[in-house]
Parts: sequence; C-alpha cells; structure tokens
Amino acid sequence: MATSNFEVPELTGCTETPRVQEGAAAGIGSFLANAPIQEALGFPGELVEDWHDRAIGKMGELLGKYRSLQVFMDACVHCGACTDKCHYFLGTGDPKNMPVARQELMRKVYRRYFTFAGKMFPSLVGAIDLTREVIDDWYKYYYQCSECRRCSVYCPYGIDTAEITMAGREILDSIGVGQKYTNEILGKVHRIGNNLGLPGPALEDTLSGLEEDVLDETGCDVKFPIDVKGAEVLLITPSADFFSEPHVESLIGYAKVFHAAGISWTLSSMASEAGNFGMFIGSYDQLRKVALRIREAALELGVKRIVVGECGHAWRVAYSFWNTLIGVGGGADDEFGRMLQKQLDGAYPQPAHICEYTYDLLQRGVIQVDKEANDHRVITFHDSCNVARGAGMGGIPGGQFSIPRALIKSVANNFHDMAAETIREGTFCCGGGGGLLTDDLMELRVKGAQPRMNALKNVVDGEGVNFMATICAICKAQFTKVLPYYGYEMGMVGGVHQLVSTAIKLKCDK
Ligand code: SF4
Ligand code: SF4
Repeated sequence: MATSNFEVPELTGCTETPRVQEGAAAGIGSFLANAPIQEALGFPGELVEDWHDRAIGKMGELLGKYRSLQVFMDACVHCGACTDKCHYFLGTGDPKNMPVARQELMRKVYRRYFTFAGKMFPSLVGAIDLTREVIDDWYKYYYQCSECRRCSVYCPYGIDTAEITMAGREILDSIGVGQKYTNEILGKVHRIGNNLGLPGPALEDTLSGLEEDVLDETGCDVKFPIDVKGAEVLLITPSADFFSEPHVESLIGYAKVFHAAGISWTLSSMASEAGNFGMFIGSYDQLRKVALRIREAALELGVKRIVVGECGHAWRVAYSFWNTLIGVGGGADDEFGRMLQKQLDGAYPQPAHICEYTYDLLQRGVIQVDKEANDHRVITFHDSCNVARGAGMGGIPGGQFSIPRALIKSVANNFHDMAAETIREGTFCCGGGGGLLTDDLMELRVKGAQPRMNALKNVVDGEGVNFMATICAICKAQFTKVLPYYGYEMGMVGGVHQLVSTAIKLKCDK
C-alpha cells in the first residue's frame, strides 16, 4: 500500500455523503504557472495591476459569447440536487467542492456586477465584490474541479459546472493567474508536438523499439509507421501511449488491429498528441490551435480516415468540436477545412474512435480473436467522463457505453459491470481529469477517487474482478497512481486495446 502524509479514505464499498468540514480542502492547491509558461500562451506573465477591471471585463465578454454561461448564472434554484454528486466533495467533505458552491464562487460576483439587484442591494442578494481573496478561492476551487460534468446529470436545469469552471480558469488566465501543469503542457504541444515533450527522433526510436518487441513476442512484423504519406488511416493518440505503462499496451493493440486487417496507417510526428488541454482552460483559441495540428497533418499525409486512440477528453474534442474547429466531418467553412472535407472518405464516420473501428472489423470478420487468451482476467469497465458525458460513439444512441463493452465481451469471457449508479452517464471521475493530473494535487486525486474505488471494491470482492479497463490516458495514469493508496495493484488498470492485443490472432505473412 502506498504511504501518504494525508488520510486516505477507508473503503467500505458504499460512498456516503460526508460530514461537512469547512475548509477541508483549502490547503490543497496546484502550483501557479510562472511568467515564461504564461507568456508562451499569450497570457500575462503575472497578476496584472488592473486585474479587477480586466477580470470583470473578461467575465462580461464570456457572458456575451457563451449564452449557456449566462443561463447557468441565472438558472440555479438552489434545490441541492447536485450537492452530493461531486467526487471531490464526497472525498474531502469541503463544502466549496459541492457543485452548487463551486458555481456560487462566480455567481456571487456575477450578481454584483451584472444584475440590477446585485448592484443596488448586494447583501440582500448574496452579491460580493471581486477581491484578491475571491481570486484565490477561484484558483483553488476551479482547480479542484475535473470538469467531469457528473453534477449536471442530476441538475433539473442541466447546469454544467464544468463550463463555469472553464470560464473561471479563462478569466484567471486573462489576468495572469494560470496553472503550471496545464499551461506548461500546452506550451510543449506548441513547441514539440505532444504533451510529454517527446521530440520526433525519440518518437521514431520508441516506435522502432516497439516493432522489435512485438516481433520478439509474436514472430510477426507488426509496424508502427510514422509520417507515411498516402496511408489510409491517420491515428491520433495520446502521447502517453508511446511509452507509459499500461498505455503502450493499447498502442500495441491498435498496431496489431491494423496489421491483422491489412490496413495502411500512420502516426504523425507533427500531431503526436491527441490530448487538447485547451479545453481544460476554457480557451477557444488554444483549443483550435492545438486541433489545427491534426488538420495540417491529415492534409500533408493525404489520409482518408482519422481514427482517435484511447483518450477521453481528446475524444470529446474530436467528436464534439473537430467539425467546426478544423473541418473533420464538415462544419469548418474555410479553405483548408473544405479541402480536408473533400479529402476524407465520406463513407466512414469522421472521426472514428478506435473502439468503434476495431469492433466494426470484428463484426465483419475482418479480424479474428481467441477470447480464451484473456481468461486469466476478470474485467470491469470504467466509463471515462468526457466519453460518457461529452461525446457519443458509432452513430448510435449510447454507443459510447455499448461499443466499448461489446468490444470487451468480444475479446474476453469474463466481464462484470460496476454498480449501475456508478457507470454510464452516472460514472464517477477517476479523480485526475480536467487538468488535475499533477503531483501537487495528489491528496485531492486520492480522495476524489474514493467513489470509484468503492464501486471497484464491490466487484473485486463480489465477482473476483482483477482488471479495470478504460479508454482514457488520464484515467490510466491516475489509477496507476491511486490504486496502490487503496491497497490494489497498479497493474489492475489497462486499456480496452490491451485486451484486444492479448486476444487478436495475427497473420504473420502481412
Ligand atoms: S464537474 Fe465534476 S468535478 Fe466539477 S463540480 Fe461537477 S461533479 Fe465536481
Ligand atoms: S442541482 Fe442545479 S439548480 Fe439545483 S442547486 Fe445544483 S446547480 Fe442549482
């Protein structure tokens, strides 16, 4: 069991509403970005002198730009339905981690500056001035929200706290208060091409090493191609897939699928990262800039299809935003967007998730598997928030839930879902999403994982589950770190394509 300097919640198998403890998570905070990190993204390097006016100005701009934000500021009736739905409140007991309280951090300021009653009678309507203390609270608690959107499922008005968190972070960045972890990674993507800062030659080395490993293990010459012009498929995948465990096992799985199906494919050194942290900080400009690398790579390589690997938020960005951001599947109405729409093969979903891609090949008998190869595993599936509540899959209602499960059941014999209220739309966040996967927030990450760990405990104890599959790089990295705090092996988590990799029958003559 991992040791810690904080109290790790005890697993009982039942996540109960905790006793409220004011300020319980007030001491948890992530490191601030320094000036070079901020300035590389075009944000002020440090808190600007006129921060107050600039922050209110930015809030006004966002209220005008995003109709949803305006509605969310006005619509809450304080019914309390969301209060016990956030894993960070459940794990810490800090009342400011109740979704409604997180929203109120901004709503109180909104009332003061943007409503008649708040301007005239602030104390009567709970309106407050924007002060340095408020800015500190925003920074602390907007970086204690993983933007998982679970609370919005239970809100009768569909108020999406994640959008408020994104707006909060966008305002903070605009006055020079940014988070080191997220903004440093965005800088690496712009400079080097991926979140891990892995340069092209190192990537090529890693891929040729993988080819040797797979050849040794299987006797098959499975390729991991990069920058191949004219390939049919461009695979966009999180950079963690290139060398982190267990992520790399899924990359091997994708390569085996393409090999077995005889499909030409390629990775791109320019777009060697599916993740798009622009979404985490609510910045449309960053979101688009990061996404444009993929369009550029697809155009340069002349591919017909774009397939996205196992990354939760990247799939949300691809599925929900790529069409208007960069013209994958239609939407963008600029020269290069239209060029890409003409180039991609309209007979296929654009983009496609690797799970729908592989499952389709299996259904059509293009690839074959030996399910018994996974018989040493008793598997459950963790729905990742951005896939479950921010995207779809396969063009069928609920495809994001049914397709990964159907794929697992096609390649393995032993599968058990966790409790119904903890999966699908109601899935609990892993505790590390939305820009919180940093060691500075380890206490929050461990405590926020408690609801998922309780649900896992029940299937471990009741069904003998020994493998939790997931299709998100952040979930994999988070669980690898937090499982040992709860007495489980870090190797218990892995990708769906790790299971595919184990079961797939390879044809060595291709
Ligand atoms: S979006 Fe998720 S992390 Fe944020 S308040 Fe809602 S439940 Fe909590
Ligand atoms: S459930 Fe919705 S309306 Fe009710 S308190 Fe929460 S955010 Fe407000």
